[in-house]
Amino acid sequence: MSECVFCRIVAGAIPAQKVDESPRVLAFRDLKPAAPTHVLLIPKQHLVASAADLEPAHGELLGELFALAARIAQREGLENGWRLVTNVGRDAGQSVFHLHVHLIGGRPMGWPPG
Ligand code: AMP
Repeated sequence: MSECVFCRIVAGAIPAQKVDESPRVLAFRDLKPAAPTHVLLIPKQHLVASAADLEPAHGELLGELFALAARIAQREGLENGWRLVTNVGRDAGQSVFHLHVHLIGGRPMGWPPG
């Protein structure tokens, strides 16, 4: 069994609050929500550690991920706006090294992010 916490969630080895899925993407609620809606979208396959390792061949998967995010945002009633964030590396605060995108919404957000 993989050491990767997100691979373990995909495998059903540790619980997660699943929100939605598409053929190649799983969406579940963040354990420590930073906003009323805080959903993580991950490729079901480990693929890459972060956005730094993405290549053009991953484009279709990313389109699928963004479309799923939009569907979830609509269902969660985020008509006032929402944000997608992917942290890369230490300065950005990345803590899990399985590509993931945070879908955050349900409150006003500042810019630039902290
Ligand atoms: P990042 O810091 O960008 O790498 O984001 C990783 C996110 O994964 C953090 O917001 C964590 O709260 C979240 N997280 C870690 N373990 C779990 C888990 N078992 N279930 C749900 N979210 C988790």
